Amino acid sequence: MLEWIIIGGGIQGTTMATFLLKSGKTTVDQLAIVDRNGEPLARWKHCTEVISMPYLRSPSVHHLDVNPFSLQKYVEKADWNNNFYGQYKRPSLQSFNEHCAQVTDDLSIKQAWVQGKVTSVCKTGQGWEVQLQNKRRLAGKKIVISIGIGEQHYWPDWALQLKQEHEGFIFHIFDGNIPELTQLHGPITIIGGGISSVHLALKLSKIYPNEVTVLKRHPFRIHNFDSDPGWLGPKRQRPFRAITSYQKRREAIIHARYKGSIPPDLHKVLMNQVKQVLLRVMDVEVISAVWRDGYISLRDKNEKVIQQTGTILLATGFKSSMPGKDWLTPVIQSHDLRLAECGYPIVSQSLQWGPGLYVTGALAELEMGPISRNISGARQAAERIVNSL
Ligand SMILES: Cc1cc2nc3c(=O)[nH]c(=O)nc-3n(C[C@H](O)[C@H](O)[C@H](O)COP(=O)(O)OP(=O)(O)OC[C@H]3O[C@@H](n4cnc5c(N)ncnc54)[C@H](O)[C@@H]3O)c2cc1C
Repeated sequence: MLEWIIIGGGIQGTTMATFLLKSGKTTVDQLAIVDRNGEPLARWKHCTEVISMPYLRSPSVHHLDVNPFSLQKYVEKADWNNNFYGQYKRPSLQSFNEHCAQVTDDLSIKQAWVQGKVTSVCKTGQGWEVQLQNKRRLAGKKIVISIGIGEQHYWPDWALQLKQEHEGFIFHIFDGNIPELTQLHGPITIIGGGISSVHLALKLSKIYPNEVTVLKRHPFRIHNFDSDPGWLGPKRQRPFRAITSYQKRREAIIHARYKGSIPPDLHKVLMNQVKQVLLRVMDVEVISAVWRDGYISLRDKNEKVIQQTGTILLATGFKSSMPGKDWLTPVIQSHDLRLAECGYPIVSQSLQWGPGLYVTGALAELEMGPISRNISGARQAAERIVNSL
């Protein structure tokens, strides 16, 4: 029997593994990280690479390693130039990813890696048994569920309908089957006004100058971070934890998140491209889409044609419903695990959902608050669990 099994090897699960190993709470031979993908951070790498995000939004002290200054030290040692951007020292994606690789290599995390889809977990006398789709079973004294919302791509109704009727013209940018971005059928329309949409628009406007349009439902929401930095510490976390109603906690999270927002520097770069007529931006909501002869007419609520396009790329983010619902529902029922009205886990301060069953990331957000899904949330969740042992 293993000491720890972590389900999900994204930012959350890999940070958890790092903190467990570096704190000496376990060793790599006593740990398994189960993930559908072949290597750590696969979803993170896919999503950030497809939009060619040059710098992270978060500051340099947010990364996978325990020491907050680990990334800065790593970069100084490598003697890289222009690696941090702006006053918050946002790291380049390249240095962040290379630092992740260094941390995971140093800890031999790949030795603990088990590729497979988890279909169930079940309490046993001494711990938990994790079942995989390929029929393999793993036994562990403690488990952490660190799955995220990253596989729940949000498709508006009109987009789903168009996809069902005409394959090959509309994609969610984080889909695994998205075509080469240099081979798209123009003109191109990007749906969404958040940070992924803007990075993608900047990338595509270089490949297809004057052939890219961003359609968004709201004016740009400009904020440095995706919630107030007060949420990183006691200023906002203490009052949040004092809220006893989970419905009110959910409302506080929704209110605190600057959903679909972009940092000011990115807004500036985008508006420069617009000024140079390299791309267009419109505030309008698409309600329906009609395909004819290889082109799609996008229409607004008055059936007015907004524009005709060859390819639609959705940068509409993720569905916020609880991840893993398909396989977690029977687990919740058979182990009496508590859920709030919003369908998310009610967990202890040490992020325990059941005896020896922990959650981090999206699943821990009613305890961790709006930062839960981010890198800072991964660090704080891992720290809380490790400190509680
Ligand atoms: C483009 C982009 C940029 C971002 N930039 C930042 C940033 O700068 N700073 C910041 O703090 N945050 C950022 N975020 C937000 C957040 O940090 C990332 O989304 C992060 O990758 C979430 O990590 P995760 O581990 O929760 O999810 P994921 O990366 O989705 O990892 C979860 C893993 O669990 C696996 N899994 C799920 N279900 C199962 C199952 N049943 N069996 C086996 N495996 C399973 C998945 O395959 C996946 O590999 C960004 C997000 C995006 C999309």
